[in-house]
Amino acid sequence: MSTAPDDPILTQSLESWFTTNARDLPWRTKARDPYRSLVSELMLQQTQVSRVIEKFEPFLGRFPTVQALAKAPEDDVLAAWAGLGYYRRARLLHACAKAIVEHHGGVVPNSLDELLELPGIGRYTAGAIASMVFHQRAPIVDGNVIRVLLRVHNQPIPQTDKATIAWAWERSAKLVHTCEDPAIFNESMMELGATVCVPKGPKCLQCPISDQCGALAAGTTESIPIPKPRAKQKHLYCASLVIRDGDSIYLEQRPSKGMWAGMYQLPTLERDDRAHDPNELMASGIDNPKHIESFTHITTHRIVEFAIYRAGAQSQTPENWTKHPISTLDSLAISNAQVKAMRIAGILGS
Ligand code: SF4
Repeated sequence: MSTAPDDPILTQSLESWFTTNARDLPWRTKARDPYRSLVSELMLQQTQVSRVIEKFEPFLGRFPTVQALAKAPEDDVLAAWAGLGYYRRARLLHACAKAIVEHHGGVVPNSLDELLELPGIGRYTAGAIASMVFHQRAPIVDGNVIRVLLRVHNQPIPQTDKATIAWAWERSAKLVHTCEDPAIFNESMMELGATVCVPKGPKCLQCPISDQCGALAAGTTESIPIPKPRAKQKHLYCASLVIRDGDSIYLEQRPSKGMWAGMYQLPTLERDDRAHDPNELMASGIDNPKHIESFTHITTHRIVEFAIYRAGAQSQTPENWTKHPISTLDSLAISNAQVKAMRIAGILGS
């Protein structure tokens, strides 16, 4: 068994494996539509495939063309994105659609350079669209691709180091120029990383390139890549207030920058020290808030502790609070944490 892979054998093995083993995903149509691919690529960044599958067709139902997305109000785009998290991507996709309409007559450009100039399109997404939609020999590198390459080359080095990433781009570029069809090859690498060469417990017995894999030969598959040190999560303490007025509820909109930017929420006090003090809510003019329940919401970067309070109808409320019929809440962009708070308060069903 060789530990230095043979590039033509490697690419051929992966391409023929992918042709018969690819998962059936809604955006994997035979002839790739550029707009659908753009939407799927943005959605798939940092969100699990199963969640994207749920949201992909409804989003396209609401914005069936790049033009429809470009002219939609941002609030509508954020609402359609609800549940996918990382809302910055929704804003970038929206800005990208506007730029395609404004500068490319509503047609997704096919050159790598033009794609790279669009908002929200980095090297990976540009490479994915150029190769998978337009069959160009453009490389792609994401976490899956890096892991496969590190294992194939038996490289026990940190996956997120700049030097590792630069090396992976170089290898990927070489392989995409060796393969038969760049669309199939690029997707086969990602598919292998997502389904076979998974982070823990790679399924080497099912792997089409096991005879090319240095880590398998050396018995190091489990220790490659070297895990990255976990970023310290920041603590945040929130007190959210439920005030109903008949069939409506008071909400506020978050600032346009930062966490959950521009999304709607129950009026919320936010502190980076523990501050679930109803007196603070009363200081903002709210009479007699009562604590209902608390819960913890964990994201990659934060641990957010929520305390939910309820108060009766108020004679006066702050100007930035707006009343919304409960029946219309599903058309607003609301974070998963706030949806949970509203469920606890009985505003939304489970
Ligand atoms: S043999 Fe195992 S470690 Fe090597 S590429 Fe295949 S799945 Fe990954």
